[in-house]
Amino acid sequence: MAIETVNPATGERLATYPETAPAEVDRILGAAVEAQRAWARASFAERALPMRKVAALLRERAPEYAKLMALEMGKPLKDGAAEVTKCAWVCEYYAGSAAAHLAPREEPSDAGRSYVRFDPLGVVLAVMPWNFPFWQVFRFIAPHLMAGNGGLLKHASNVPQCALAIERVMHDAGFPRDLFRTLLVGAGAVAGIIRDPRVAAATITGSEPAGRSVAEAAGRALKPSVLELGGSDPFIVLADADLDAAAKTGAVARTVNAGQSCICAKRFIVEAPVHDAFLSRLTEAMRAIRVGDPLDPATDIGPQARRELRDELHGQVTQAIGEGARAVLGCTVPAGPGAFYPVSVLADVRPGNVAAREELFGPVAVVIRAETADQAVAIANDSRFGLGASLWTRDPAQVERLVPRIEAGAVFVNGLVKSDPRLPFGGVKSSGYGRELGLEGIRAFVNVKTVWIR
Ligand code: NAP
Repeated sequence: MAIETVNPATGERLATYPETAPAEVDRILGAAVEAQRAWARASFAERALPMRKVAALLRERAPEYAKLMALEMGKPLKDGAAEVTKCAWVCEYYAGSAAAHLAPREEPSDAGRSYVRFDPLGVVLAVMPWNFPFWQVFRFIAPHLMAGNGGLLKHASNVPQCALAIERVMHDAGFPRDLFRTLLVGAGAVAGIIRDPRVAAATITGSEPAGRSVAEAAGRALKPSVLELGGSDPFIVLADADLDAAAKTGAVARTVNAGQSCICAKRFIVEAPVHDAFLSRLTEAMRAIRVGDPLDPATDIGPQARRELRDELHGQVTQAIGEGARAVLGCTVPAGPGAFYPVSVLADVRPGNVAAREELFGPVAVVIRAETADQAVAIANDSRFGLGASLWTRDPAQVERLVPRIEAGAVFVNGLVKSDPRLPFGGVKSSGYGRELGLEGIRAFVNVKTVWIR
């Protein structure tokens, strides 16, 4: 099967690539193991050299890669450039911090000396999504290559040009050629690759069903895995919140990347006394967002990444309205080619409605009324997902009281949920397990080795 790339703004087919043949995958795996063994012996300072070099190349090539993302998945140019710059940051962060994060730790015991080492595991398979085609991959590359592991990338099938550009920039930066490779394969090849004894571990960022497949394959093969899956993040607005700031930030939090981020604010849960005021401010802020050609610098958000994903989103919106939600803004499919969807607001969403239960992966804000702060948290937790959460209040006592109760991998107070190389990132419940980024991220795929010396 060929892998093809389609411009979601126009529907035009841009390029088609043959899949990497099974014999070639086999050869790449063998070479990756050899390359990783040599790489494991390199010092942190030696590993940091190409890592810093790739950061510099990414900064230099940001406009080129931004254009690639705009054409392949519809991201506006300024967002693409910012994404590539963030990739440079994560590379620099781990180039500078890996030695400290993985420094051996002395522990007293009955030995003359005992300590804990963090040794690499081997070659890790990364199954990645199209929504942040560079960032998702570099937040895998930077920690795990600095830890001494090798990497194989199975990128989403709609972003092969990004996948190949990433492989190229790694090689241009001086990483050993076989240490990091892109495999142009479909989802059907993933389980077999995980089963291969030359693969030590697997990580996936993607949907819940894809996560289940990878977890199942890794479990059967007794290999560690990290799963970064979907989210239906709550954005809780309490009665004492700064409503202007909450509405302005909320509109951005819902529409970043055309609403196609796992940590977008997806459910706005608003305490009754400020519900109507917040809804109108959020709607105004959403209305001001310009949807358009990702190559136009004036565009805030581009199309959805693929037409069938846009149609799926509209199906959820239609069902939500059928189940009693009120369309306050947008919610209609525009005519014309491309995968565009308007910035939309759904109000009067009650628990049980599809818009409250499922992840809406597009620029659709779902507004839910809560009678009290406690009920707001209960509604927030009434989801099978638990990735991020945003809490808006001016009261430090409410923050202390409510943060521990929120079932999520991160709580951002009076701000939008975002990733930061220094802070661990991941979820609970059906949002997955394990962590990326920060100290926890670089320790995800290491052998925590106890050394006991008489
Ligand atoms: P997706 O369809 O699950 O695709 C993600 C990756 O998984 C792609 O490389 C895809 O390959 C592969 N894949 C799909 N089905 C698979 C299977 N059965 N076995 C093995 N691999 C499989 O997800 P998406 O539509 O690209 O991304 C959207 C989802 O990702 C959302 O749910 C979003 O919340 C989540 N996400 C999570 C995070 C996070 O950090 N938690 C970040 C971003 C996105 P093909 O393209 O070849 O099908």
